[in-house]
Formats: sequence, C-alpha cells, structure tokens
Amino acid sequence: MKEVKQPLLTIKMDRLKEMINISAGIGTLSKGGLCRLTLSDEDKEMRDIFVGWLEDNRLQVRVDDFGNIYGRREGRIKDAAPVMVGSHLDTQPEGGRFDGILGVLCALEAIQVLNDHQIETDRPIEIINFTNEEGTRFEPALLGSGAVTGIFSEEYVFGRTDRAGKTFGEELKRIGYAGSKAARLANVHRFVELHVEQGPVLERDKITIGAVEGVQGMTWLEVKVTGEADHAGPTPMPMRKDALVAASKMITAIQEAAFEVDEAATTTVGRIEISPNSINCVPGQVIFSIDVRHFDNALKVKTVELVTDKITQIAASEKVGLEITKLWDIDATHFSQDILEKVIAGADAHGYSSKRMISGAGHDAKYMNDIVPSAMIFVPSVNGKSHCQEELTYWEDIEKGANVLLYVVNELAQE
Ligand SMILES: [Zn+2]
Repeated sequence: MKEVKQPLLTIKMDRLKEMINISAGIGTLSKGGLCRLTLSDEDKEMRDIFVGWLEDNRLQVRVDDFGNIYGRREGRIKDAAPVMVGSHLDTQPEGGRFDGILGVLCALEAIQVLNDHQIETDRPIEIINFTNEEGTRFEPALLGSGAVTGIFSEEYVFGRTDRAGKTFGEELKRIGYAGSKAARLANVHRFVELHVEQGPVLERDKITIGAVEGVQGMTWLEVKVTGEADHAGPTPMPMRKDALVAASKMITAIQEAAFEVDEAATTTVGRIEISPNSINCVPGQVIFSIDVRHFDNALKVKTVELVTDKITQIAASEKVGLEITKLWDIDATHFSQDILEKVIAGADAHGYSSKRMISGAGHDAKYMNDIVPSAMIFVPSVNGKSHCQEELTYWEDIEKGANVLLYVVNELAQE
C-alpha cells in the first residue's frame, strides 16, 4: 500500500458525452430510446465503433469465444492480475440510452484520462463489454458474464435460440465476433461496474452515488391448493373444500410472514390461476406463485420456512390438499467491502453525496463476484425508470459517477 496521495483526476465530460451520443444514434427509436438487441446488425455496428475507440486509445483488443470484447492497458507490472471494468452495450427491445452503456463508456473515458496524464498504473486495466446482458433476444440474461465465470456451459450458450430459430453461435459468427477461447478473462484482480440504478432510491434520497453492497437473494415457489369443485347452490357451506378460500387465507399469511421476519424481507404473490373459474362453482383448485427476497441468505431461508409453515397449517385447517414446488432459488450476492470503501472514498474526495444500497436487479457484476471480488457504482435514474425509452440519467450525475469510477479504477490499479 502506497501512502502517496494521487492528485484528484477528473474526466472530460464533453468527450464522454460525445461517445454516449454516438452510441445513442445506433438502433435509435422514435422516442430517443434504443433497440440494440444482442448480435443484431445494430449490435455489430456499435461493437465496430467501440473496437475503433479501444484501438484509438492504444488498448490491446481481443474477443473471446462468447463475443465478449476486451481492451487492455498494460501496467508497470506486466504479469499482475488486471483490474477489470465494464458492463454491456446491448439493450432491451425498447431500452434506454444509458443502461449498461454508461458502464462501458465511462470506463473508456477513465482510461483516456489516465492516457491524457500519462499515468502508469502498477496493474493492467481491462475494459470489458459483455455479450447479451439483457437476455431479451437470447434467454437467459447475463449470458456472456455467466459463460466466462463458469455458470453456463459452452454448448448451452452457443445453442441459445431466438424466436426466429437462429442460434447464438450462428449469429455471433455472422456479425464477426466469434473470438477465441484463449482470449477469455483469467486471473482478474478486481471487477467494477458502473450502472444506472433502475430504481427510485437515489433520486428519492437526493444522493448521487450508490455504493452497491450486493444483489438480493430470491426464492420462487409455486403452490397448488386442491379442494373439491362443486355447485355453488346445493353444496352447504360446512361441507365445502373451497380451494380459493384456503388460498386467500394463505396469501394473507404470506404477507404477514415478511413483516414477522424483518422490514427488509419481501414476499409477493403475483400470479394466481383458479379452476374452474366460474361464477357458480366452488373453486376446486388454485395455483399461485410466491416470490421471496432478502439480502441476508439466512433470513431469506427463514422467510421461506415461515411461509411454508403458515400455509401448511392453513391447508390442514381448511382440509385442502397442498403441493409446494421450488421453481428457482438464488443466493444473495455480497460485493467486496474493500472496493465499496473506495467508492465511498472517491465520492467523498469529490464532495459528492453517497450511500450504501442493495440492487434489486441482476447485473454482470453478480456473476463476476463469484470468481473475483467485485462491486458496483449506481447513478440515479430519473423517476426510477429503466427498460423503457424514457430511461434518463442527468449529465451531471453521469459526470460524477464517471469521476468516482476513475478514482476507484486508478486506486485498484495501484494496489
Ligand atoms: Zn444493464
């Protein structure tokens, strides 16, 4: 650890703005949003421009077999593990101009500032553009980052198919970005991703910089309640096995379970199917979903157990059958405290407000954190909106976020 204070570097907003505006011209929609689906012609056009920018800044460009693009700036210590920084350039079908794009272009701006000042860092710095973060043309999301971190197999990734029947592998070759396996990231020191918040917290709290502590864990359950379908007239009330009455009591209990665990737990019943779903029939069967979330894995498990206990008791007292199926379960991600402290320190050094917060959405940093200490920086989303054309982050907030990213990357590359 060096105790020598670095001068406070700042980004050039005009240069960053120009890059963001060029990006906003590729796949532009009528209301200013973007449609730049993974491995489309628009994605190729953006990639070509991005690679040109990397080369203009004397970065060594390489592309891995999943189409992830890397730009490397050498450090003083050639074999040192690089600091990686980046996000994604693909968008939703009606996406915004900043989601993902900011994380890549602010990283490139940060590198240009280091070049402007001829600052040598001990460690190499690598920018990355992950392929198919959005998962809208080829499901699931986070495919490029999941592939290089070992979550998804090669066969799985290359075989993903869009609605027209085209595979990920074919389309990657078609646009000329099927690179080599040898180009994949390896031995990374730290990963940092700047991103728009996509939620309303920073704006509501009038805070500019979010130091993202992690991503919530999630469990999805499907509950099948089986009673007896009967005629609504002749069947006396005490003789009924009404699946919907039982399910209603369960839904109320599921809400109560979240409150009983703590204020951060959430439980949601968002989907329900009733059968026969007829005005004069006693409901014979109800199927509904439960979404449970918590940042603390133990409390997520506790919430799921409490929910299960409560609905099992209700099923017994209502004399209905109960089947609970786990559809999906993912643990919470806890980002690197060490990087988060640098994010806060960067905000403090510039005099920006900051706060620690949790991401409700998944990001490439989630998978990266499985293999290397990672963290994220959030900047405010106006009205909390994203995945829509109205998505907006103010230029002054982008500038502040980019300055903090520059600070953090420079610090990490010197350790
Ligand atoms: Zn994104």
